[in-house]
Amino acid sequence: MKVKKVKFLIIGAGLSGLITANELRENGEEDFIILEARSRTGGRILTKEGIDLGATWFQKQHVYTSEVLSKYNLDYFEQFSKGKSVLVYNSMAPAHLFESDPNAPGAKRISGGSDSLIQALSNPVAANLELESPVTHIKMQDNFLEVMVQGESYHAEKVIICLPPKIAENIEYTPPLPDNLKEVMQKTHTWMSNAIKVGITYPEAFWKKKGLSGTIIGQIGPVIELYDHCNAAENEYSLMGFVNEGLREETAAHRKERILAYLEQHLGPEARNYKNYIEKDWAKEEYTSGKSLKSVYMSPQYGNSIFKKSFLDGRLYFSGTETSPLYGGYLEGAIYSGLNTAKKILS
Ligand SMILES: Cc1cc2nc3c(=O)[nH]c(=O)nc-3n(C[C@H](O)[C@H](O)[C@H](O)COP(=O)(O)OP(=O)(O)OC[C@H]3O[C@@H](n4cnc5c(N)ncnc54)[C@H](O)[C@@H]3O)c2cc1C
Repeated sequence: MKVKKVKFLIIGAGLSGLITANELRENGEEDFIILEARSRTGGRILTKEGIDLGATWFQKQHVYTSEVLSKYNLDYFEQFSKGKSVLVYNSMAPAHLFESDPNAPGAKRISGGSDSLIQALSNPVAANLELESPVTHIKMQDNFLEVMVQGESYHAEKVIICLPPKIAENIEYTPPLPDNLKEVMQKTHTWMSNAIKVGITYPEAFWKKKGLSGTIIGQIGPVIELYDHCNAAENEYSLMGFVNEGLREETAAHRKERILAYLEQHLGPEARNYKNYIEKDWAKEEYTSGKSLKSVYMSPQYGNSIFKKSFLDGRLYFSGTETSPLYGGYLEGAIYSGLNTAKKILS
């Protein structure tokens, strides 16, 4: 078995793991490896054909996110919401049209898609990254932790788990983790792990020409929320939204037809004249959702204080958005926990 010795081992190259890695590098620490199970970095951030299939928005109060964006010279812009929006609230009554308050602070989107942030964070640590490396076992040895990945073994002084706690539960620990920690990991819902997103690109933003914002809200529709998703330069046109989970087990063709018919009904016949149609069901992702899908319709509690502790002889740390006491679940929580964890292990 091949053995690699390293000071710090970061497990997971999502936003939180990449933030920690960059903090280490900027503090002159080069002796670390990031192990990522997927063949890409970013975890729940994924932009394809201009569509944010994972995280999209941040808010004015998300100050760590704004700081990271400005540090990496990334621009952001306001979510488009001008014009009439559609509220579908009753299957028998006509939809209601409304306009959002132009003075209310809107959600913000990262120019070039959320993945621009992941690329900016991945590039400086590319030499430390090992993709397609799912960690299966963490074992305490005399004065290091042994981490196993498909026939390879890593010996690390400190290991930082930057995974949703429920996914970190799939790793075997020797000796086993304390029962109270296992219980919290088990109960911590992975934010958005049950979401299905849809993105549809068009030759033009036909909805804007009709004075519509592109927003359609309604729990009874095949898409429960839909928004304008044109790019910052407004020369690529698309709509993006969340598919009703009731359609998860339908055939892809049937789901698509239901969605297009709904868009046609509320935005007009041009909705069928699309260029590209993509969907992403996060419940089918082994490294986000695992095998136990559970839909959650209220904001769960995040940042349990048990995640502040270290385990396995003080060498094992937990990070990631679900462990964050500040904006847990959000990009902001991932960044905050990533920064905090770096500070902790460097001190
Ligand atoms: C559909 C969707 C929409 C969202 N919308 C928003 C939004 O608009 N605004 C917002 O603020 N947040 C949103 N979020 C949440 C946001 O994406 C997360 O808060 C953030 O990306 C979490 O980052 P993380 O690093 O904590 O976790 P993750 O992104 O989950 O990263 C964990 C990483 O660990 C890897 N991994 C898993 N198991 C192993 C293993 N055994 N070995 C090695 N690697 C492993 C995974 O592949 C992944 O790369 C959304 C999420 C989804 C899915």
